[in-house]
Amino acid sequence: MRYGFYFDADQCIGCKTCVMACKDIKNLPSGVSYRRVYNIVSGTWQEDACGTPVAAGVYSYSVSIACNHCKEPVCVAACPQKAIQKEADGIVWIDSEKCVGCRLCAGKCPHGAIQFNRKAGVSEKCDLCRELVKRRKEPACVTACPMRCLKLVDLDTFPVPEEHRTITYPVGSVTQPSTLLHLNRRTDPEQEKGEASVSNMPEEL
Ligand code: SF4
Ligand code: SF4
Ligand code: SF4
Repeated sequence: MRYGFYFDADQCIGCKTCVMACKDIKNLPSGVSYRRVYNIVSGTWQEDACGTPVAAGVYSYSVSIACNHCKEPVCVAACPQKAIQKEADGIVWIDSEKCVGCRLCAGKCPHGAIQFNRKAGVSEKCDLCRELVKRRKEPACVTACPMRCLKLVDLDTFPVPEEHRTITYPVGSVTQPSTLLHLNRRTDPEQEKGEASVSNMPEEL
């Protein structure tokens, strides 16, 4: 058993319902989001002979991401209070009773998953809605997604369709994220290198 997320970037419409469902169920204050939706844009505009702007390989897509519940979670070792735990089912969660808000974990996580709740004075992140999952229900973000492109899966048994171009995202050779990303059909990771950028407003992330 290894719980993780499967995200289909081909189906996502970037509506951010998953973000709002998470904020709602976790009662998060303004400025704290365990889940984020990145809008990725690539391509350029060029002028034709008449000076009219013409799209040259312009496209965009969205990626919804939270904590990756990594197989090798560096955040766990970084916490001097032993406030972060990885369960046998793969879920990584922070015990707010033990957290002293030192933020050493956030500094180590290469995926930017750990947020600081100023009001509570503790570090927080997605816990994969473990209380719901324990009751055999799905996480709030998964239930809320109108496109059904975000799924809770057991990565030990999940049959990734062969035709799917799937990668772990963000790429993490050290942490081994438990997130599978089905790439958007317009995505060419090689071509995107150095070209694609995140177009979100800073306050969205
Ligand atoms: S994404 Fe970051 S916070 Fe989440 S388990 Fe991995 S290292 Fe820890
Ligand atoms: S699994 Fe729960 S805590 Fe994690 S992003 Fe989804 S709604 Fe938020
Ligand atoms: S709710 Fe679903 S479709 Fe909307 S942004 Fe989140 S993952 Fe994408």
